[in-house]
Amino acid sequence: MTFDYKFSAKKSLGQNYLKDPNIIRKIIASAFIQPEDTVLEVGPGPGALTHGLINSPAHQIMAIEKDGQFIPHWQSIMMNSKKFQIHHGDGLKIKLESLSKSPLKIVANLPYNVGTQLIINWLEELPLVKSMTLMLQKEVVSRIVSPPGSKDYGRLSILIQWLCTTEKLFDVPPTAFKPEPKVTSSIIRIVPRPTPLWPATKSVLEKVTALAFQQRRKMIKKSLQGLFPETEKVLERLGIDPTARPEILSIEDFCKIARAVGDN
Ligand code: SAM
Repeated sequence: MTFDYKFSAKKSLGQNYLKDPNIIRKIIASAFIQPEDTVLEVGPGPGALTHGLINSPAHQIMAIEKDGQFIPHWQSIMMNSKKFQIHHGDGLKIKLESLSKSPLKIVANLPYNVGTQLIINWLEELPLVKSMTLMLQKEVVSRIVSPPGSKDYGRLSILIQWLCTTEKLFDVPPTAFKPEPKVTSSIIRIVPRPTPLWPATKSVLEKVTALAFQQRRKMIKKSLQGLFPETEKVLERLGIDPTARPEILSIEDFCKIARAVGDN
Protein backbone atom coordinates (compact mmCIF):
# COMPACT_ATOMS: atom_id res chain seq x y z
CA MET A 1 0.00 0.00 0.00
CA THR A 2 1.35 3.46 -0.80
CA PHE A 3 0.20 6.68 0.79
CA ASP A 4 -0.34 10.02 -0.73
CA TYR A 5 1.58 12.77 1.04
CA LYS A 6 0.77 15.61 -1.34
CA PHE A 7 -1.46 16.87 1.50
CA SER A 8 -0.19 19.37 4.01
CA ALA A 9 -0.06 18.54 7.74
CA LYS A 10 -1.57 21.14 10.05
CA LYS A 11 -0.61 20.99 13.71
CA SER A 12 -3.83 22.76 14.70
CA LEU A 13 -5.84 19.78 13.36
CA GLY A 14 -3.59 17.15 14.96
CA GLN A 15 -2.48 15.94 11.54
CA ASN A 16 0.09 13.19 12.11
CA TYR A 17 -0.50 10.64 9.39
CA LEU A 18 0.07 6.94 9.98
CA LYS A 19 2.61 5.44 7.59
CA ASP A 20 3.42 2.04 9.11
CA PRO A 21 1.35 -0.66 7.30
CA ASN A 22 1.82 -3.18 10.15
CA ILE A 23 0.37 -0.79 12.71
CA ILE A 24 -2.53 0.01 10.36
CA ARG A 25 -3.27 -3.71 9.95
CA LYS A 26 -3.08 -4.26 13.73
CA ILE A 27 -5.52 -1.40 14.45
CA ILE A 28 -8.05 -2.67 11.94
CA ALA A 29 -7.71 -6.26 13.22
CA SER A 30 -8.28 -4.98 16.79
CA ALA A 31 -11.70 -3.62 15.81
CA PHE A 32 -13.03 -7.16 14.97
CA ILE A 33 -15.04 -5.81 12.04
CA GLN A 34 -17.94 -8.03 10.92
CA PRO A 35 -20.08 -7.88 7.75
CA GLU A 36 -23.04 -6.42 9.69
CA ASP A 37 -20.97 -3.53 11.10
CA THR A 38 -21.23 0.13 10.22
CA VAL A 39 -17.89 1.77 10.96
CA LEU A 40 -17.33 5.44 11.71
CA GLU A 41 -13.91 7.02 11.30
CA VAL A 42 -13.28 10.56 12.50
CA GLY A 43 -10.44 12.21 10.60
CA PRO A 44 -9.65 9.99 7.60
CA GLY A 45 -7.04 12.51 6.41
CA PRO A 46 -5.15 11.02 3.46
CA GLY A 47 -6.61 7.62 4.27
CA ALA A 48 -4.08 5.36 5.98
CA LEU A 49 -6.83 3.64 7.96
CA THR A 50 -9.73 4.42 5.65
CA HIS A 51 -8.65 2.24 2.74
CA GLY A 52 -8.15 -0.68 5.12
CA LEU A 53 -11.63 -0.07 6.53
CA ILE A 54 -13.18 0.09 3.05
CA ASN A 55 -11.52 -3.26 2.29
CA SER A 56 -12.77 -4.78 5.56
CA PRO A 57 -15.95 -6.90 5.72
CA ALA A 58 -17.99 -3.94 7.15
CA HIS A 59 -21.07 -3.20 5.08
CA GLN A 60 -20.74 0.56 5.53
CA ILE A 61 -17.93 3.02 6.32
CA MET A 62 -18.72 6.60 7.29
CA ALA A 63 -16.04 9.22 7.78
CA ILE A 64 -16.11 12.76 9.17
CA GLU A 65 -13.30 15.08 8.07
CA LYS A 66 -12.96 18.72 9.07
CA ASP A 67 -10.16 19.69 6.68
CA GLY A 68 -11.49 20.66 3.24
CA GLN A 69 -8.22 19.74 1.49
CA PHE A 70 -9.19 16.03 1.71
CA ILE A 71 -12.82 16.31 0.68
CA PRO A 72 -12.55 16.16 -3.17
CA HIS A 73 -10.39 13.03 -2.79
CA TRP A 74 -13.00 11.31 -0.56
CA GLN A 75 -15.88 12.46 -2.74
CA SER A 76 -14.28 10.71 -5.71
CA ILE A 77 -13.83 7.54 -3.60
CA MET A 78 -17.50 7.81 -2.60
CA MET A 79 -18.50 7.85 -6.29
CA ASN A 80 -16.75 4.50 -6.76
CA SER A 81 -17.61 2.72 -3.54
CA LYS A 82 -21.21 2.10 -2.53
CA LYS A 83 -20.20 1.41 1.04
CA PHE A 84 -18.24 4.63 1.71
CA GLN A 85 -19.70 7.97 2.83
CA ILE A 86 -17.77 11.15 3.63
CA HIS A 87 -19.17 13.95 5.81
CA HIS A 88 -17.34 17.27 5.66
CA GLY A 89 -17.62 18.74 9.15
CA ASP A 90 -16.48 18.86 12.74
CA GLY A 91 -16.61 15.54 14.59
CA LEU A 92 -17.22 17.49 17.81
CA LYS A 93 -20.44 18.92 16.40
CA ILE A 94 -21.86 16.01 14.40
CA LYS A 95 -24.11 13.82 16.55
CA LEU A 96 -24.00 10.07 16.05
CA GLU A 97 -27.82 10.06 15.90
CA SER A 98 -27.62 12.19 12.74
CA LEU A 99 -25.47 9.51 11.08
CA SER A 100 -27.03 6.25 12.14
CA LYS A 101 -30.01 4.66 13.88
CA SER A 102 -28.03 1.55 14.85
CA PRO A 103 -24.81 1.22 16.91
CA LEU A 104 -21.52 2.08 15.20
CA LYS A 105 -18.02 0.72 15.54
CA ILE A 106 -15.81 3.77 15.83
CA VAL A 107 -12.28 3.24 14.53
CA ALA A 108 -9.99 6.25 14.41
CA ASN A 109 -6.58 7.77 14.84
CA LEU A 110 -8.01 10.76 16.66
CA PRO A 111 -6.62 14.28 16.40
CA TYR A 112 -4.81 14.72 19.74
CA ASN A 113 -6.26 18.12 20.54
CA VAL A 114 -9.89 16.93 20.51
CA GLY A 115 -9.58 13.19 21.25
CA THR A 116 -10.72 13.33 24.89
CA GLN A 117 -13.66 15.62 24.11
CA LEU A 118 -14.82 13.36 21.27
CA ILE A 119 -14.94 10.38 23.65
CA ILE A 120 -16.77 12.43 26.30
CA ASN A 121 -19.34 13.44 23.65
CA TRP A 122 -19.82 9.82 22.55
CA LEU A 123 -20.50 8.81 26.17
CA GLU A 124 -23.66 10.93 25.80
CA GLU A 125 -24.78 8.70 22.91
CA LEU A 126 -23.57 5.31 24.11
CA PRO A 127 -26.59 3.33 22.81
CA LEU A 128 -25.26 4.26 19.34
CA VAL A 129 -21.76 2.92 20.05
CA LYS A 130 -20.87 -0.76 19.63
CA SER A 131 -17.19 -0.24 20.35
CA MET A 132 -14.42 2.31 19.98
CA THR A 133 -10.96 1.31 18.77
CA LEU A 134 -8.94 4.47 19.06
CA MET A 135 -5.45 5.84 18.79
CA LEU A 136 -4.77 8.51 21.41
CA GLN A 137 -1.80 9.96 23.22
CA LYS A 138 -0.30 7.31 25.52
CA GLU A 139 -0.90 9.47 28.59
CA VAL A 140 -4.59 9.94 27.73
CA VAL A 141 -4.98 6.15 27.37
CA SER A 142 -3.31 5.76 30.75
CA ARG A 143 -5.78 8.24 32.28
CA ILE A 144 -8.67 6.22 30.84
CA VAL A 145 -7.57 2.73 31.97
CA SER A 146 -5.92 3.53 35.33
CA PRO A 147 -7.26 1.84 38.47
CA PRO A 148 -7.77 3.60 41.83
CA GLY A 149 -4.50 4.34 43.61
CA SER A 150 -2.51 5.14 40.48
CA LYS A 151 -1.28 8.59 39.57
CA ASP A 152 -3.33 8.80 36.38
CA TYR A 153 -6.63 7.73 38.01
CA GLY A 154 -9.13 10.57 37.91
CA ARG A 155 -12.38 11.91 36.46
CA LEU A 156 -11.84 10.43 33.00
CA SER A 157 -11.02 6.94 34.39
CA ILE A 158 -14.09 6.95 36.62
CA LEU A 159 -16.58 8.18 34.06
CA ILE A 160 -15.41 5.94 31.21
CA GLN A 161 -14.84 2.79 33.31
CA TRP A 162 -18.23 3.28 34.97
CA LEU A 163 -19.93 3.09 31.56
CA CYS A 164 -17.53 0.95 29.51
CA THR A 165 -14.90 -1.75 29.66
CA THR A 166 -11.50 -0.38 28.64
CA GLU A 167 -8.41 -2.17 27.42
CA LYS A 168 -5.10 -0.71 26.37
CA LEU A 169 -3.90 -2.75 23.39
CA PHE A 170 -0.44 -1.52 22.35
CA ASP A 171 1.84 1.51 22.04
CA VAL A 172 2.71 3.17 18.75
CA PRO A 173 6.05 5.02 18.49
CA PRO A 174 6.38 8.47 16.86
CA THR A 175 8.28 6.84 13.95
CA ALA A 176 5.02 5.24 12.73
CA PHE A 177 3.77 8.70 11.64
CA LYS A 178 4.59 11.45 9.22
CA PRO A 179 5.22 14.06 10.52
CA GLU A 180 6.44 12.43 13.73
CA PRO A 181 4.59 13.61 16.85
CA LYS A 182 6.58 14.45 20.00
CA VAL A 183 4.75 11.85 22.08
CA THR A 184 4.10 8.12 22.03
CA SER A 185 0.57 6.99 21.12
CA SER A 186 -1.46 4.00 22.29
CA ILE A 187 -4.38 2.03 20.94
CA ILE A 188 -7.33 1.53 23.25
CA ARG A 189 -10.50 -0.50 22.92
CA ILE A 190 -13.56 0.83 24.73
CA VAL A 191 -16.78 -1.21 24.79
CA PRO A 192 -20.00 0.12 26.38
CA ARG A 193 -21.28 -1.99 29.28
CA PRO A 194 -24.90 -3.18 29.04
CA THR A 195 -25.52 -1.17 32.25
CA PRO A 196 -23.23 1.13 34.27
CA LEU A 197 -21.09 -0.58 36.93
CA TRP A 198 -23.11 0.93 39.82
CA PRO A 199 -26.30 3.00 39.93
CA ALA A 200 -25.76 6.79 39.81
CA THR A 201 -26.93 9.80 37.83
CA LYS A 202 -24.27 10.73 35.28
CA SER A 203 -24.50 14.50 35.74
CA VAL A 204 -24.20 14.10 39.54
CA LEU A 205 -21.25 11.71 39.24
CA GLU A 206 -19.57 14.23 36.91
CA LYS A 207 -20.11 16.99 39.46
CA VAL A 208 -18.81 14.91 42.38
CA THR A 209 -15.68 13.77 40.53
CA ALA A 210 -15.00 17.30 39.27
CA LEU A 211 -15.07 18.61 42.85
CA ALA A 212 -13.10 15.66 44.25
CA PHE A 213 -10.25 15.95 41.73
CA GLN A 214 -10.06 19.74 41.62
CA GLN A 215 -7.20 19.35 44.09
CA ARG A 216 -5.89 15.78 44.14
CA ARG A 217 -3.91 16.32 47.35
CA LYS A 218 -6.92 17.52 49.35
CA MET A 219 -8.85 15.20 51.69
CA ILE A 220 -12.17 14.14 50.22
CA LYS A 221 -14.17 15.68 53.10
CA LYS A 222 -12.65 19.09 52.27
CA SER A 223 -13.14 18.85 48.49
CA LEU A 224 -16.78 17.82 48.89
CA GLN A 225 -17.58 20.47 51.49
CA GLY A 226 -20.76 22.19 50.44
CA LEU A 227 -22.26 19.12 48.76
CA PHE A 228 -23.93 18.05 52.02
CA PRO A 229 -24.73 19.85 55.28
CA GLU A 230 -22.46 17.40 57.16
CA THR A 231 -19.99 16.00 54.65
CA GLU A 232 -17.85 14.09 57.16
CA LYS A 233 -20.85 12.29 58.69
CA VAL A 234 -22.29 11.39 55.28
CA LEU A 235 -18.95 9.93 54.14
CA GLU A 236 -18.64 7.89 57.35
CA ARG A 237 -22.18 6.59 56.91
CA LEU A 238 -21.24 5.50 53.38
CA GLY A 239 -18.18 3.64 54.74
CA ILE A 240 -15.75 6.09 53.11
CA ASP A 241 -12.78 7.46 55.06
CA PRO A 242 -13.39 11.25 55.11
CA THR A 243 -9.63 11.91 55.31
CA ALA A 244 -8.85 9.84 52.18
CA ARG A 245 -7.48 11.48 49.01
CA PRO A 246 -9.77 11.15 45.96
CA GLU A 247 -7.37 8.93 44.03
CA ILE A 248 -7.82 6.00 46.42
CA LEU A 249 -11.63 6.00 46.24
CA SER A 250 -13.16 3.33 44.01
CA ILE A 251 -15.75 3.93 41.28
CA GLU A 252 -18.27 2.29 43.63
CA ASP A 253 -17.37 4.88 46.33
CA PHE A 254 -17.95 7.78 43.90
CA CYS A 255 -21.28 6.26 42.84
CA LYS A 256 -22.30 5.95 46.53
CA ILE A 257 -21.48 9.63 47.03
CA ALA A 258 -23.39 10.60 43.87
CA ARG A 259 -26.44 8.66 45.10
CA ALA A 260 -26.20 10.35 48.52
CA VAL A 261 -26.18 13.74 46.75
CA GLY A 262 -29.28 12.64 44.90
CA ASP A 263 -30.97 11.69 48.18
CA ASN A 264 -29.92 14.94 49.80
N1 SAM B 1 -6.66 8.84 9.76
C1 SAM B 1 -5.43 9.47 9.29
C2 SAM B 1 -4.25 8.61 9.69
O1 SAM B 1 -4.42 7.74 10.56
O2 SAM B 1 -3.17 8.82 9.15
C3 SAM B 1 -5.28 10.88 9.85
C4 SAM B 1 -5.28 10.98 11.35
S1 SAM B 1 -4.78 12.57 11.95
C5 SAM B 1 -4.10 12.12 13.52
C6 SAM B 1 -6.29 13.35 12.46
C7 SAM B 1 -7.29 13.66 11.36
O3 SAM B 1 -8.46 14.26 11.97
C8 SAM B 1 -6.83 14.67 10.33
O4 SAM B 1 -7.21 14.23 9.06
C9 SAM B 1 -7.57 15.97 10.69
O5 SAM B 1 -7.80 16.82 9.59
C10 SAM B 1 -8.86 15.42 11.24
N2 SAM B 1 -9.55 16.29 12.20
C11 SAM B 1 -9.00 17.15 13.10
N3 SAM B 1 -9.95 17.71 13.87
C12 SAM B 1 -11.13 17.19 13.44
C13 SAM B 1 -12.49 17.37 13.84
N4 SAM B 1 -12.81 18.21 14.84
N5 SAM B 1 -13.46 16.70 13.18
C14 SAM B 1 -13.14 15.85 12.15
N6 SAM B 1 -11.88 15.63 11.74
C15 SAM B 1 -10.89 16.29 12.37
